[in-house]
Amino acid sequence: MTIVRSRFAPSPTGYMHVGGVRTALFSWLLARQAGTDGTFILRIEDTDKVREVEGSIVQIENSLRWLGIEWDEGIDKGGPDAPYLQSERLTIYKEWAQKLIDSGRAYADPYTSEEVEAFRQLAKDEKRPFLYRDHRPENPPVWDGTQPLRFKSDPKPYKWTDAVMGELSTGPDAIDDFILVKGDGYPTYNFCHIVDDAIMGITHVLRSQEFIASTPKFLNLYDALEVTPPTLATLPYVMAIDGKKKLGKRDGAKDILEYGNEGYLPEAMANFLATLGWNDGTEQEIFTIDELLEKFSLDRVQKSPARFDEQRLLWLNGQHIRLLSLDDLYIRSLSFWSKNALEAGEARQKQVLELVKDRLKTLADIPTITDYFFEEPTPNWSMIEGNKQLVALGKEGILPLLQQAKVALSESDYTPEALQETLNGLLETTGQKPGILFSLIRLAVSWAPFSPALNDTLAVLGKETVINRLEVSINAL
Ligand code: GLU
Repeated sequence: MTIVRSRFAPSPTGYMHVGGVRTALFSWLLARQAGTDGTFILRIEDTDKVREVEGSIVQIENSLRWLGIEWDEGIDKGGPDAPYLQSERLTIYKEWAQKLIDSGRAYADPYTSEEVEAFRQLAKDEKRPFLYRDHRPENPPVWDGTQPLRFKSDPKPYKWTDAVMGELSTGPDAIDDFILVKGDGYPTYNFCHIVDDAIMGITHVLRSQEFIASTPKFLNLYDALEVTPPTLATLPYVMAIDGKKKLGKRDGAKDILEYGNEGYLPEAMANFLATLGWNDGTEQEIFTIDELLEKFSLDRVQKSPARFDEQRLLWLNGQHIRLLSLDDLYIRSLSFWSKNALEAGEARQKQVLELVKDRLKTLADIPTITDYFFEEPTPNWSMIEGNKQLVALGKEGILPLLQQAKVALSESDYTPEALQETLNGLLETTGQKPGILFSLIRLAVSWAPFSPALNDTLAVLGKETVINRLEVSINAL
């Protein structure tokens, strides 16, 4: 097996949303697929102090943990290349910057922003692209750390293979002198991620499409540092559902942890993220984490942007809820129940859960879908009005039906089988269709828009409750 050292290297600039987490997931899958030869590293890239948002690091860690993405080396875990927080690695970047100065591949940038603006304007007037390398100072000052340090590039064409995008190439125009270390002493992303990936022995760099235009610059710097680039894999953008714009906050690019609060399962989210731009070549849509570990491969990640379809996530979540054992579902459901349900206790909650499990799309559906098992519903005639056939029956038709149902159901045993027999008997004696009779009984005992199979519902409610509720409904007529 080949050694895989992959990393996720977020900047602490806010919460984690789907795009970022998908990158982490793919990197992690790659490392875990390599078994004991795989290492997944969490490195925090905090050298842009202006964009930093307090609390993001904890948020990033919690998001990854929620999804089950554990890292082997990282800021809290340490590891052979610690520290993993870039702001604690400044001396390392200084040393590497010095190497570039010594080999004549970096220079102190002496220009003020006004001077640079003048160069830019001139290029514009002369209708040619502005390039820093056209303005290299003849005698640059000695770098004292207060001026930006700029890379002295070596413009040339590049051809490279991206593990997702395939063969790529650019001409020398894509290469320019870029800043390695800023005037504030912090290195740029362009510089320090390359240093860190080299030191940390990273074999696979997975990152979003926004970095692809910079890759020629990176390749030029790898050359100057005499470092062999790792495998580069560019993940296409995640777009809004219309496919026209990059996913924004309004289209679902929210904090990934919010999905957990809204009753989404992490395994459904992982399934969803993995299939945002990847499939295994079959029609399969539902993947467990184990199946992803078995089947994921970079060469099946699509090149074109993926669309974020929140309805699909909802559907997948329902599917993954069904895959849970009752005990597991119960444990995960704990924070979603109503007070009454909690008071009813574990056995009762499990009984109800078993009944409604297949109808849950999120765990947050639990209180609305189950409340009539834990508290007495109030008759709500507008629900009858929503059913044309019941409206056609009128009160005169409904009342005797409910009365007959009450008699039959007070004589029935309360196993699902016995109840089904009783209900079938009622169909015969009343001459009604199930669509009418069962809808009516369902409403009269639950006053809920949906419920699981009627016989199962009645069995879980129990005789006393069913008869009481039928009475209340009859009286309300
Ligand atoms: N710090 C970069 C970001 O958060 C990471 C890019 C990379 O993975 O190299 O966008």
